[in-house]
Amino acid sequence: MAPRPHWLFGDQLGPHFLDPGVPVVMVEARSAFARRRSHRAKAHLLLSAMRHRAAELGDRVRYVRAGTYREGLREAAGDARVTVSRPSSRAALRLVESMDRVEVLPDRGFLVSREEFAGWLEDRGGARLRLEDFYRWVRRSHDLLMDGGEPAGGRWNLDHDNREPPPRDRDDLGVPPPWRPHEDEIDEEVRRDLDRWEREGRVRFVGRDGPRLFPVTRREALSALRSFVAHRLPEFGRYEDAMLAGDPVMSHSLLSAPLNLGLLHPAECVERAERALRSGDAPLNSVEGFVRQIAGWREYVQQLYWHFGADYRQRNELRHHTRLPRWFLELDADAVRARCLSTVLAQVRDTGWTHHTPRLMVLGSHALQHGWDPAELTDWFHRCFVDGHDWVMAPNVVGMSQYADGGLMTTKPYTSAGAYIHRMSDLCDGCAYRPAERTGERACPYTTGYWSFVHRHRDLLAANHRTARAVRGLERLGNLPEVLALEEERGRRAP
Ligand SMILES: Cc1cc2nc3c(=O)[nH]c(=O)nc-3n(C[C@H](O)[C@H](O)[C@H](O)COP(=O)(O)OP(=O)(O)OC[C@H]3O[C@@H](n4cnc5c(N)ncnc54)[C@H](O)[C@@H]3O)c2cc1C
Ligand code: SF4
Repeated sequence: MAPRPHWLFGDQLGPHFLDPGVPVVMVEARSAFARRRSHRAKAHLLLSAMRHRAAELGDRVRYVRAGTYREGLREAAGDARVTVSRPSSRAALRLVESMDRVEVLPDRGFLVSREEFAGWLEDRGGARLRLEDFYRWVRRSHDLLMDGGEPAGGRWNLDHDNREPPPRDRDDLGVPPPWRPHEDEIDEEVRRDLDRWEREGRVRFVGRDGPRLFPVTRREALSALRSFVAHRLPEFGRYEDAMLAGDPVMSHSLLSAPLNLGLLHPAECVERAERALRSGDAPLNSVEGFVRQIAGWREYVQQLYWHFGADYRQRNELRHHTRLPRWFLELDADAVRARCLSTVLAQVRDTGWTHHTPRLMVLGSHALQHGWDPAELTDWFHRCFVDGHDWVMAPNVVGMSQYADGGLMTTKPYTSAGAYIHRMSDLCDGCAYRPAERTGERACPYTTGYWSFVHRHRDLLAANHRTARAVRGLERLGNLPEVLALEEERGRRAP
């Protein structure tokens, strides 16, 4: 009997998602782009990756361009029964489960399966979820960075070594530049299609269309991984949280996009990093930092997406209902005077990517301070980032960056006054504002925003031992009424 066709989704593009010899169907559904106004670079990346995969699979794949997934599957496979690896989002899972002829197989894209996670939860007997416990369990159970039963180098956590401010005497980190792709005729075709769809009014995008910056094939993804491990991993740890205006990538890996497209398996990324440690080519703090991101955070976030339930996306414990302002929705970096926010918003506009600290401590922190609606913000991050997928967005934005889950994911809200950005970046140099000033024309919007946030949520913050100090600071603040008046006056204007 001929094997049933296997339906590949656009984030299942690596070889580990396919058994040898099985025929394949792929559906490029325009509804996915028409539904929301994505960054054009993201639409380009997804389409280019799917079309490149189809070109590699040749006669083995039936590739259909259709209005919706349902229409496309009918056209590609008729009434035949098909298999699919468990999709990564609730919406896609609902769709495939609603079709009788689709058999859903286990997911293949992560280190930890849902069953293993459920077993881990059960063993904990209801203890509070903590990334650190999960991460150590993954390290042990996958024998990652372990020397027998002990963590390599004797320490599980080297975060303390990885929080350095950037070098003060340089505009960039001085590491070799990241791997970048060359576009080909498939990219040209994608660009032509996107232009046409926009002209015909079928889709609308945000962001600028520049040369493609991220891998779309397995071969490209492997080149990016190899290049990162060889040239940039050694410096990864030390400046992991730091920001430099002139060096947006620093020594980050830029691997989230190919990982989330399924072009790389997380196991091969962490194994290569460990090999670099064992061969003496990268130090422990960098390798541990990188392994923590992938085997810790990435795996944790994907488990929490399912564990927290379907209504997690709508959580809004802080009751933040302010709509996102137009300048932010339009990525209008030129309208912003605050150098940190303007620089980061321009990076999003031009590339659809920034590293972790700008996402959390510049974009997310500004939204939190101003009480922006967390669900709308989640949607914004999802649409505007090349690595934005539903499973990774909800915990990172609702939980980590907006504390909208009331502390299920983190033990405190992540936001800070301008002093943090000043310490961790060179962005305050040449800014129209001053990080330490909280009244007057040059008062830093992050500093006034911070105190206004602490004031608004003082009861909640006072009850949490990790934030109670902030409330005591507020009580000592001499000029709170002026700070709040300034915030009120600045209102929704771009800072
Ligand atoms: C508000 C907010 C939104 C975010 N949105 C996304 C998103 O849409 N997609 C996404 O992949 N990551 C997201 N992240 C996590 C993280 O910022 C990005 O994974 C990272 O910046 C991508 O750049 P990189 O590949 O150079 O990462 P590196 O700094 O090189 O880290 C290595 C890898 O670790 C993984 N990783 C690290 N932290 C996380 C995390 N918190 N969640 C999931 N994976 C993680 C990524 O796969 C990343 O490629 C978000 C974080 C915040 C605070
Ligand atoms: S002074 Fe304030 S607004 Fe300006 S860059 Fe620093 S933190 Fe940002």
